[in-house]
Amino acid sequence: MTDTPLKLFNSLTRRLEVFEPVHPGEARVYTCGPTVYNYPHIGNMRAYVFADVLGRTLSWKGYRLTHVINITDVGHLTDDADAGEDKMEKMAAEKAQSIWDIAEHYKQAYWADVRALNIRGPMKEGRPEPAHWTVATDYVPQMIAFAQTIAEKHCYELESGLYFDVSTVADYGRLARAQTDQGESRIEPVAGKRNPADFAIWRKTPPGEKRQMEWDSPWGRGAPGWHLECSVMSGAVLGFPFDIHTGGIDHREIHHPNEIAQNQAHCCTNGLDEPKNSGARFWMHNNFLVERSGKMSKSSGEFLRLQLLIDRGYHPLAYRLMCLAAHYRSELEFSWEGLGAALTRLKRMVMAAAPLADVAMQAGAAHPRLAPAMARFAEAISDDLNTPVALTALEEVLGMKKVDPAAKRAAIAEIDSVLGLDLLTLTREGLRIRPKDAAITEDEIAAALARRNEARAAKDFASADAIRAELAAAGVEVMDGDPLGWEWKLG
Ligand code: AMP
Ligand code: ZN
Repeated sequence: MTDTPLKLFNSLTRRLEVFEPVHPGEARVYTCGPTVYNYPHIGNMRAYVFADVLGRTLSWKGYRLTHVINITDVGHLTDDADAGEDKMEKMAAEKAQSIWDIAEHYKQAYWADVRALNIRGPMKEGRPEPAHWTVATDYVPQMIAFAQTIAEKHCYELESGLYFDVSTVADYGRLARAQTDQGESRIEPVAGKRNPADFAIWRKTPPGEKRQMEWDSPWGRGAPGWHLECSVMSGAVLGFPFDIHTGGIDHREIHHPNEIAQNQAHCCTNGLDEPKNSGARFWMHNNFLVERSGKMSKSSGEFLRLQLLIDRGYHPLAYRLMCLAAHYRSELEFSWEGLGAALTRLKRMVMAAAPLADVAMQAGAAHPRLAPAMARFAEAISDDLNTPVALTALEEVLGMKKVDPAAKRAAIAEIDSVLGLDLLTLTREGLRIRPKDAAITEDEIAAALARRNEARAAKDFASADAIRAELAAAGVEVMDGDPLGWEWKLG
């Protein structure tokens, strides 16, 4: 089943390519992670759901996976091209807290979302998992050492820092899709830069100022540039060249071209026709989650965090399913209706899987009737992670009658190891989350429903109706005969 070759879209060559690992039997992946100056919004989390499905697919294909996700706790400026203020210092000043406390708080918040979305991490229930996080401030000496290897041939010093001269590497910016001049117009000019696209490798603390996070370097006290961090952490943990580098499409324009330029300077100075020269063979990018009314912006008061979805009564895995229902390279529009539809779809899947909860898992159990759907699943996921089609194959398996339950359970478990929806452990009740502002508790609802059932059994329909009306007044809709078997929902 896993012999279908895995094809992935490589943004660098702009083609679908068959995945061939650099090290036989292994897959090494680096994902640009969050800058922990604020809560992630659900669009950011789409990037990690995508990277998680990629990692799970590689594991399912049998590769021994090492997946690194970085945590940026220093150096990311408000402008991706190294101008503006430091995001972390700015937030620390606004909140009058130490930068280390800010980093810790938002790192924990990010991990809570990671866990809620079933994104694999280093450990789950005491068992090791393949993804782990590197934290930028742990790698500053390596960053300085890396910068020293490229400083002489590729960099120049200005008053504000050490800058990378992009004209010193061949094919600078090949990855970027935007016209170069468009890209450059987004870059704030810094006096003395040789090329508009040149970027800071090291940013010196201005004379007379003190930053909360600063280190000594051959170029004076200061902090590393954001692009440098990813080159250093990916190279240090995975070794150049590694297999796949991922991020959101915004990173295709500035951050990743800059990483590639540094990697080239560090490894070689040849052009990018030889794939290994960019540091990673594949560069993969997820498209954006968009929301028309601007709620995705972290500066809008109540922005779209995963916790907001949960507070409104949506299970976080409904959001994961919403992401999987679109291809990662397509834009995905967020709407509450769309999220509601995803929750309903998830409920149906969980209910279809429920009768298998107590069936013993039989390794390798197969059933000829399951084979075509399993083949469709394998084809879809191997075709550049086509999760929308993979989901329909899963639904086909879930709906299949007259197959050995052990075989069916094994098939669902196999597909779910890639999609990560927890179908064999989630329950119908577990999916029902009480909205945060609901005035009534689940116990109160259960008690009222029990009284209503008694009244109905005694044919006291007036009382039963009165209880139903009471519940409606508290925002609870009683759902007699709901095809999904829910007795009530909070409106
Ligand atoms: P940041 O913390 O801003 O560096 O972003 C973290 C990740 O989220 C990066 O890979 C971004 O490219 C990605 N990203 C940012 N906004 C969105 C969005 N609206 N939809 C999908 N991915 C996004
Ligand atoms: Zn990065």
